Amino acid sequence: MDYSQFFSPTSASRKPSAIRQLQKFSSIPGMISLGGGNPNPTTFPFSKMSVTLRGGEVIDISEADVQVALQYSATNGLPNLVQWLRDLQLLEHRPKLQDFDICVGNGSQDVLTKAFEMLAAPGDSVLVEAPAYVGALAFLRPLGVKFVEVEVDESGPVPDKLEQTLQNWPADVKKPKFFYTVPAGGNPTGLTTTLERKHQIYEIAKRHNFIILEDDPYYYLQFNKHRIPSYFSFDSDGRVLRFDSFSKILSAGIRVGWVSGPKALVERIVLHGQASFLHPSGISQAVVSSVLHKWGHAGFLNHVQSVAKFYEGKRDAFIQSADKWLKGVAEWNVPTAGMFVWIKLLGIDDSSSLIQEKAMEKKVVLVPGFEFFANPTKTPYVRAAYSIASESDIDTALMRLGELVREATQHK
Ligand code: PMP
Repeated sequence: MDYSQFFSPTSASRKPSAIRQLQKFSSIPGMISLGGGNPNPTTFPFSKMSVTLRGGEVIDISEADVQVALQYSATNGLPNLVQWLRDLQLLEHRPKLQDFDICVGNGSQDVLTKAFEMLAAPGDSVLVEAPAYVGALAFLRPLGVKFVEVEVDESGPVPDKLEQTLQNWPADVKKPKFFYTVPAGGNPTGLTTTLERKHQIYEIAKRHNFIILEDDPYYYLQFNKHRIPSYFSFDSDGRVLRFDSFSKILSAGIRVGWVSGPKALVERIVLHGQASFLHPSGISQAVVSSVLHKWGHAGFLNHVQSVAKFYEGKRDAFIQSADKWLKGVAEWNVPTAGMFVWIKLLGIDDSSSLIQEKAMEKKVVLVPGFEFFANPTKTPYVRAAYSIASESDIDTALMRLGELVREATQHK
């Protein structure tokens, strides 16, 4: 595949950092390096690090690993972490294309936005779900792209409409370069794309030659024992970039996420990293890596299963309260992954003022649906998260929302 056709002029003009290129020569036996600008680690005050897990287990990070973590390191991530992540991808996704690369970022948002910058130039058309993750829209909007919204239903993006849009695409306008999608426990919809839909969308991507940006931070929060396979797993062309995150399963504040995909695409993200953040935090990576190596892949998969179970319980409590308070005034889908419910308020054309003003007066915070649409629109939807609030607070909040909708529609 000729990836250069997809690169924005900014990304295409990125060159490897000359100093970083010299680093590989430093490890040649007998070589004396006066080249690098690394600070001398003997001046750093830290020597030992250990982490204590909730169960009381203490993991000591070796002094050698601490020294590596304290120094400048590879832009794509600490080698022992990258290797662990690579093995996880092979084990979990069994990708058709095994010749993929990985780049770790400060959370998946970091590498995701670098991918956006790699592909999107002002005036380019990009495919996004309607509704879409607001954090992605916030980055794409200032790039000056034209959003082409892809309708979603409870099985995922609707293929027929997408195909129609692309078939009727004007001959003198460049076709979209990528489709950005959140396939599991979508933010904001809570919906999970079925495997059949993924295959249908992938076929369209092949026919119309676009890249799929698979942003999947809720992948391990699927409640069914058998997780739905990723686009990354069956990608045979090398047109999928997959974004994973530890934010929902290890820690959000630790800021570790990663991208996996074709070498030529990951390379552009790494080049961006060389010129911006240099590399993700060594300490964060060392902490994550120490836990992952201690657990092994089986231990990690056990851990994510217990996290998914936790959110499944929260989902059940939320749906029970929704059934109690919102029947007749709202409609919703029961999520099978993640932490969000997308609620349609019946008899309301535009949820914005109701949620931004009236809901605040009633002391309940929800996100009005219009925030999640790339192109301005009025919508009756609101997003609710069941991740943090206690069961009794969820119950009270939904009682208040029910009252709010009843009052608003009675006055009509
Ligand atoms: N994508 C989606 C769909 C998200 O919901 C989030 C977190 N809100 C992110 C990306 C960013 O995650 P991270 O913390 O890994 O940067």
